[in-house]
Amino acid sequence: MAWHSPYLRLPRHLDLPGGGMVPSPSERGVAASDKDPDLCGAEGEVYRPDPLTLAGSRRHPLITGTKVHMVTFGCQMNKYDSEMVAGLLNEKGAAFVEDERQADLILFNTCSVRAQAEDRVHGRLGSLKRRKREDPAVLLAVMGCMAQKEGEQIAKRYPYVDLIVGTRQLHQFAKLLERVKEGAPTPLLAIDAAPAVEFGETVARRDSRWKAYLAVTRGCNKRCTFCVVPYTRGPEVSRTIGDVITEAKRLVDDGVLEIMLLGQTIDTYGFDLGRENANLPKLLRALCAITGLRRIRFITSHPEECQDDLWRTMADCGDKVMPFIHMPAQSGSDAVLRRMARGYTRKRYLDVVASARKHCPELEITSDWIVGFCGENDADFEQSFSLMQEVRPCSSYIFTYSVREGTPAQRLDDDVPETAKKERHARLSEAQDAISLEKNRARIGQVEEVLVEGVSKTDTERLTGRSAQYRPVHFAGSQDLVGTFAEVRITQASGHSLQGDRITHDS
Ligand code: SAM
Repeated sequence: MAWHSPYLRLPRHLDLPGGGMVPSPSERGVAASDKDPDLCGAEGEVYRPDPLTLAGSRRHPLITGTKVHMVTFGCQMNKYDSEMVAGLLNEKGAAFVEDERQADLILFNTCSVRAQAEDRVHGRLGSLKRRKREDPAVLLAVMGCMAQKEGEQIAKRYPYVDLIVGTRQLHQFAKLLERVKEGAPTPLLAIDAAPAVEFGETVARRDSRWKAYLAVTRGCNKRCTFCVVPYTRGPEVSRTIGDVITEAKRLVDDGVLEIMLLGQTIDTYGFDLGRENANLPKLLRALCAITGLRRIRFITSHPEECQDDLWRTMADCGDKVMPFIHMPAQSGSDAVLRRMARGYTRKRYLDVVASARKHCPELEITSDWIVGFCGENDADFEQSFSLMQEVRPCSSYIFTYSVREGTPAQRLDDDVPETAKKERHARLSEAQDAISLEKNRARIGQVEEVLVEGVSKTDTERLTGRSAQYRPVHFAGSQDLVGTFAEVRITQASGHSLQGDRITHDS
């Protein structure tokens, strides 16, 4: 038992009864092709629950009626975690509010991948001191990667925070909140490693009725020298195929048509369970058999791990597994890739892309790039630039390197001047924008099958959704098409989306 004062910390084997991508446009600072509404990031995204959600199947007297304002920073894995925690709280009778001023609980789900998202959370926590002084009943909670990485510092620096829950204790969030509400000394700190994050039968409360994330692995076994994820999320742990299928069926019963599988290195799914028992191709084939599940996607692909078997499976299951992968290159220079410990060369990246496209000619690829990594010289950067030109991803997330505490690269010299980082970032972004525009324009005249996700934010007469290759598509149509598939002939393209006209079969 490890209960510490003044900050309570949960024991390693938590004994309470009943009982892991892509960042923000502002962080990337790049052109419109990056403004993907699916992604949350440094600004944080406020959780907007489905208004039709029926709350409270397992109501708890202390949680029922609690108004929660939840803000998510970071990647899809964080968004999934937020949706699961929202599901837990919802079962207990909590409601969600968009306006922070109306909340009884203000909850930040945090990201540590780059400094900017962390700075944002520090700013928000600092500014909440006054609110807490004026209204001591309001509860403040921090969960996720920052909580895991620097929970004790957060507790010291912001002693008015009530609850700090790391990445491996998220499934206990509602129970921990009950403890705080019962009067446990605060800050209550729960950051010990649990063997697995088990959300049980909780159904995520999503902001989309038709699409859902589903984490198939947690943690990461890679040791990319720049990356903090293995330290905030721990080693890779896979869920069994049976467990994933059960969750997927629950989602489909809940109306979901499209599932995006999540894993830091999705290709190594199942390796810890014995590759013959569970692997990504096998999982995809099993998911394809679920009646009612129309679309399956998966992220993030790792160039060192991708195997031809995956492309063969995608080709075989092309009606359900969508022709889209996100496969970060990070750099086109072998010297930089070595310093990053990425485990592949430029040639390997190109070979993987060629093989994938040979098996799945419709496949679209998106990528991540880091510019200004330690020791990157002009010639190295030109290698990234030329790799992008060769691969022609349909969009990319481009980051300037940011030193992360505790990573191996912290010991390297962060020697690329800021001006050079900015210049390289701008050049690569510009190149990507030109490629995105050209590739999107090539879709003009084509018919895209679109999962209609909602009404356009800027024009209520227009609908918005995603094509099979994950391109945003906008077209005129009535609201009753939301949650259906529409065929849209593309008439216009920008760098980040397509516009078109719906084909009606009676016209
Ligand atoms: N697991 C995935 C992989 O290894 O390809 C990506 C994980 S990370 C959450 C998402 C992206 O953030 C990375 O692909 C990388 O481009 C970027 N990133 C990670 N650490 C970074 C750092 N220290 N500075 C700048 N960008 C970083």
